[in-house]
Amino acid sequence: MDIPKDESGSDFPVRCFSCGAIIGHLYQEYRNKMEEGKTPKEALDELGITRYCCRRMFLTHKSVLKEFARFHGAVG
Ligand SMILES: [Zn+2]
Repeated sequence: MDIPKDESGSDFPVRCFSCGAIIGHLYQEYRNKMEEGKTPKEALDELGITRYCCRRMFLTHKSVLKEFARFHGAVG
């Protein structure tokens, strides 16, 4: 994947939609861990994100990003 780093984090929500916990500042760190080859579970455990609602924010955001990246790439 060749998603530019600063764009990839800019549209990540600052707060979890469900519980309101502030998670936006953790997204870049999450991405770093993924690039190190860790699984989403390992990365979220290490960041101390234990609530399922917050974990879902990270997991779903990643898949959405891929769709966007593919779309932008196709359009140029
Ligand atoms: Zn939450």
